[in-house]
Amino acid sequence: MAGRNHLYIPGPTNVPNEVLNAMHIAMEDHRSPIFPKLLTPLLQDLKKIFRTETGQAFIFPATGTAGWEIALTNCLNPGDKVLIYRFGQFSHLWAEMAKRLGFDVEIHQETWGKGIPLDKLEARLKEDSDHEIKAVLATHNETATGVTSDIAGVRKAMDASKHPALMFVDGVSSIASLDFRMDEWGVDGAISGSQKGFMLPAGGAFLAFSQKALKASETTTYPRCFLDLRDQMNANKDGYTPYTPNLPILYGLRKALDLLLEEGMENVYARHHRLAEGTRKAVAAWGLKQCAHPGFESNTVTAIMVPEDKDARHVISTAFSKYNISLGAGLSELAGKAFRIGHVGDMNDVSMLGAIAGVEMAMLDNGFDITAGSGVAAAIEYYRATAK
Ligand code: PLP
Repeated sequence: MAGRNHLYIPGPTNVPNEVLNAMHIAMEDHRSPIFPKLLTPLLQDLKKIFRTETGQAFIFPATGTAGWEIALTNCLNPGDKVLIYRFGQFSHLWAEMAKRLGFDVEIHQETWGKGIPLDKLEARLKEDSDHEIKAVLATHNETATGVTSDIAGVRKAMDASKHPALMFVDGVSSIASLDFRMDEWGVDGAISGSQKGFMLPAGGAFLAFSQKALKASETTTYPRCFLDLRDQMNANKDGYTPYTPNLPILYGLRKALDLLLEEGMENVYARHHRLAEGTRKAVAAWGLKQCAHPGFESNTVTAIMVPEDKDARHVISTAFSKYNISLGAGLSELAGKAFRIGHVGDMNDVSMLGAIAGVEMAMLDNGFDITAGSGVAAAIEYYRATAK
């Protein structure tokens, strides 16, 4: 089909041409005297995205899933109790990983579509007067349901209960696109990946750890090797890596960080809010519901529920085969019941309108009772009214 595929999934996201070009490099010696000139500023600038001055940033040649494992195995001891609220496929997978790694996982099931229940969290932490819970695992943005949790609120609940547990935050689909403040929110382990807000291919796990977490990593007895923070720290202090780095990701990251910092993180967050809000206006105009309950709506991904007599998979396949656009599938419990529109990364008003128009066409083709142009019109009005 002529024209390019339009990628509207919540990761991997569109890679800007500048970043693609920056990654198109000849391989070079990662032990050369000039390699630290690339790595050291990257680690410094990553801290600006995580919003930490006191924490330390890390880059692993891995993905977000490894980020979960890095946090768990470097800062906890075997069998430690961890607490997690599960309300979507990614919080589910993190909980499953913690179980498979032998931690004592206390899972609290929440409705898919809601986020971390702060009152329940505070009550549970107060009850844990012996401080058996060693870490709270918080999924900031549940990509499966399009739900954002209040991480500042998690910190408040932890402080109100005077609980010393570490706080690990999965920011794979939030960091670099949604407001994230590691130091202010007292996050001990912030986990992200290259292929969403950072606008890169998958293959970079970007993390930051607080001094408290790093101190814990000095004494934990959990066995680890490839994902050991100590090896990274040892090599990173001189500007090197403990093993062969993923060079194109590093060069791409240099460009992506330049683009993000040049735009300014507040502007990046505001852009994602506008993109999401236009999408939500379209969903409302179609008379459809989001999976996210009010107050939990994500600015990086919207999961749209289809009427009971429809199958969301048909919308996705029509959109792909007839109109060359890629939408996110409903995962696990939401398979067939929802499709997702990613509005994360290198997107603007008009690229968003392409997504909304394509979805509208695919829904009309599948007999949805919607008015042609209704979602597009609602989004256009919003984007026009709020464009600077
Ligand atoms: N956490 C969240 C919230 C995600 O959205 C994803 C992937 O989509 C992951 C973790 C897993 O990351 P990866 O696929 O990079 O391993």
